[in-house]
Amino acid sequence: KDAEPPLHILFFPFLLPGHLIPMADMAALFAARGVRCTVLTTPVQASTIRSVVDRANGSSAAGTPMSISVVPFPDVGLPMAAQSGRDLATSRDYHDRFLQTVELLREPFCRFLSDHHADIDAVVSDSLFHWSAHATAEHGLPRIAFLATSMFARACTDTVLRSNVFESCSDDHGAVVSLPGLPHRVEQRRSQMMDPAKRPHEWAMFQLIHAADRSSYGELFNSFRVLEPGYAEHYRATQLRRRAWLVGPVALASGSLEDVASRGAVAGALSPDAAVCLRWLDAKLASSVVYVSFGTMTNFSPEQMRELARGLDLSGKNFVWVIAKGSTAASSDPSTPDGFPTANRGYIVRGWAPQVLILNHPAVGGFVTHCGWNSTLEAVSAGVPMVTWPRYADQFYNEKLVVEVLGVGVGVGAEDYASCLETHRVIAGEAIAESIRRVMGEEGDGAAMRKKAKELGVMPRGAVEKGGSSYDDVGQLMEELIARRSSVGCTADG
Ligand code: UDP
Repeated sequence: KDAEPPLHILFFPFLLPGHLIPMADMAALFAARGVRCTVLTTPVQASTIRSVVDRANGSSAAGTPMSISVVPFPDVGLPMAAQSGRDLATSRDYHDRFLQTVELLREPFCRFLSDHHADIDAVVSDSLFHWSAHATAEHGLPRIAFLATSMFARACTDTVLRSNVFESCSDDHGAVVSLPGLPHRVEQRRSQMMDPAKRPHEWAMFQLIHAADRSSYGELFNSFRVLEPGYAEHYRATQLRRRAWLVGPVALASGSLEDVASRGAVAGALSPDAAVCLRWLDAKLASSVVYVSFGTMTNFSPEQMRELARGLDLSGKNFVWVIAKGSTAASSDPSTPDGFPTANRGYIVRGWAPQVLILNHPAVGGFVTHCGWNSTLEAVSAGVPMVTWPRYADQFYNEKLVVEVLGVGVGVGAEDYASCLETHRVIAGEAIAESIRRVMGEEGDGAAMRKKAKELGVMPRGAVEKGGSSYDDVGQLMEELIARRSSVGCTADG
């Protein structure tokens, strides 16, 4: 009898880099374990992940080749803040466009599945594509949702959706909402949460997403067990006894630091001064520099930029500050970086920074971050403590994980869920400076935080190596899918 063909998993990523890149890495990880992996995406996104695929195919001698299938789909051009110069976190029409994009991929995906389902064992779909639950079920295929967030954030949102937490709390933005039944006591200000009355379409989509994921075969997280203490057990036990696997950090499982950094170059054109920035860091003392970056969606107002510049000045620390190239705030305001008096203590990167290399540089001792899940994982993996400055989506929950559960960060005092409010409170330079000094300081809780961050920083490698928890979760999922294939085959035969 012929040997069983390898499992074939179809990966279907969302378009934004924070979703696309980890899913491509995840596919590379499964390919290295012998799974045949196909990534289904649009032409522009395909070119972004080409390097991940080429590297996986070039390096994994024991693996199975990965391939990309491109759907003939016109690129909708979801702009990143870096290119648009706008603050996408606060932009309502951007969020509406985001929702439309999710819909636009439905038809091409369904067509692809109709043509190829017989050859596929499972579909790993970005959780945002809620309709893929129905499409896969129609062909009897298991759908596994990929969550581009922490399990902690996911468990919090699930609680918010299922337990009507808003009903028992006042409309006041300062009101505190308790999230019951989680392994840790979690309380959130109302102003930090999405408001269903202000964002009804987004809220409705949240509900669709959660319902689709609950009806799916299981959920995959780019995270690892030690990072979210108690949450895997909680999630599996209480979220309707769901199957869930933590297989990250996927970036570590699939390449060197240089490889990881170069993927950003494809996604958003590496800033020409990236190499100069790394040389600049070479000349600084160990742990003396704070790295400041807010991911791909944030462009602050000129007023907030001025306060941030002032905060960096007041902190007295060296810094590397990433400012989106198209940012109007950066180019038109004289008090922002160019004209700013402490420029010799700071290095400004305009455009795409080699974030992973910067975070792993010995000179970097702290990270001012918006708590996007990828940035958070990258900081944890580099052993760098954080000043947390969340803006929307899962970021406020990730902040809680970093500050309250793990104790490796200090909140700057962000209180506004960016896309829900008309006016945004500006965080003052003094508050920014104070949190930076706390995280970068050698005394008091700063020293303890740095120690904890260093200890945590060695865990990710262990998780993805043979015998680690993430390695085992990959193996477990593969075994389950192979067993499922046999049982489905038996039913079909008999
Ligand atoms: N990134 C980078 N250079 C930049 C800006 C972002 O390499 O100048 C990378 C960062 O390392 C992370 C991703 O882009 O991997 C941003 O993802 P995250 O989830 O942190 O935030 P998002 O942009 O999705 O809000």
